[in-house]
Formats: sequence, C-alpha cells, structure tokens
Amino acid sequence: MNVLVKKSEKEIREEVVSATISLYSKGLNSTLSGNVSARLSENTMLLTPTGSTGILKGSIRPDQLSIVTLDGELISGPKNSSEWRIHVKIYKEMPKINAIVHPHPIDSIFFAMNNDISKTPLIPEIFVELGEAKYYLGSSKAPYVGISKGTSGSQELADDVFSEIKRKEVSIVIMEGHGTVAIGTNMAEALGRAEQLEYYAKISNMKLAQKR
Ligand SMILES: [Zn+2]
Repeated sequence: MNVLVKKSEKEIREEVVSATISLYSKGLNSTLSGNVSARLSENTMLLTPTGSTGILKGSIRPDQLSIVTLDGELISGPKNSSEWRIHVKIYKEMPKINAIVHPHPIDSIFFAMNNDISKTPLIPEIFVELGEAKYYLGSSKAPYVGISKGTSGSQELADDVFSEIKRKEVSIVIMEGHGTVAIGTNMAEALGRAEQLEYYAKISNMKLAQKR
C-alpha cells in the first residue's frame, strides 16, 4: 500500500490506464501520442510507455506501464515516454501532486495560437466562456493558463512548464504547438482539467471561425 496516495499499485495502474484510454477515446490524443503518470511511491511513478514500443494508447493494459524513479531511471516495464522529465520535475517539486496527464489536444493548441495569452489575461470574451473552467483549472487568482515553449522531451521544456505552473498558480499549461500538461492531487482532477480546457478551447475556436 502506498502511504502517500493510500492506493494499491494495482489501483494506480488501473487509474493510469483508464485515463490514457479516456484521453484517446475523447480525441485528445492519437493512439501513439501523449502520456499519463501517477505517483507510485516517494521516489517512483508509473508512466505510460513511449509510442515506439508499439503499445497503443487506445488499448493499453495495466501491465504495460513503466515504473520510473524520480531521477528518471526505468526500473521495470517497457521503455518509458521520452517526456518523463516533465513528470519527474513536477513530482519532485510538488509533493501534493499525484497525477499528471499530457495530451496533444487539437483545440487547446489552436486556442493558444489564436490568442496571445502569454502577455495578457484571457480576453474578456474568453474570460466569460472560461468562467466555469476557471474553477476546474484550479486558479483562484487569475483565469490564466500557462504557455510554455521548448523542444519535446527536453529539460528546458520540463523546467519551463513547472515555472509556468508556479508563477501563474495554474494547474494546466499549454505547450506551444505541442499539447497540454494538467496536474492534480488525483487522476480525476488532472484528467478533468485537460478535458475542460479542451472543451472551452473548442467553443472559443468555433466562435473565432464563425467570425471569419
Ligand atoms: Zn507531447
């Protein structure tokens, strides 16, 4: 039994698999992209494997997850996601965070491209539309999402995502042209945040397309 999250490894494996399949089923990921993790112990996490293993996100099983230390060492399971640095950085720095989802959701990516939210709060129109999401995004001070740049899999990107989370006090960050990273004290929170942002981004993008 994990003293930190008070769940068995079996339960945590099932949660990671369920979230991974859910992101795929709802179109937030292709079957080869994105990754999901959960804290397993003080120094380890369960992480989805890299797409090059051929393990499909749409049909992944609990025994197909990697156990990786918070130093990035693969202990067991298939070759882990190349984006492990983002997960390690957040678990190391934020002891209350137990789950992280990183999908490549199309509307969230376009939402960031269509709005200069790196410099300004969400524009008033989107602020209204994000009114409900503000709660889910976990920011009490501002309805911002973070914006991060950097190459996939790099330490620079991992550090940048973490600094956005801390600086803006948000629970979700959009990585430019790439995808989102949502964190939670449990998997439901992390998954809900990623889905919620994608939902509102879709509405925003549709409104923008109507105006054109
Ligand atoms: Zn990615």
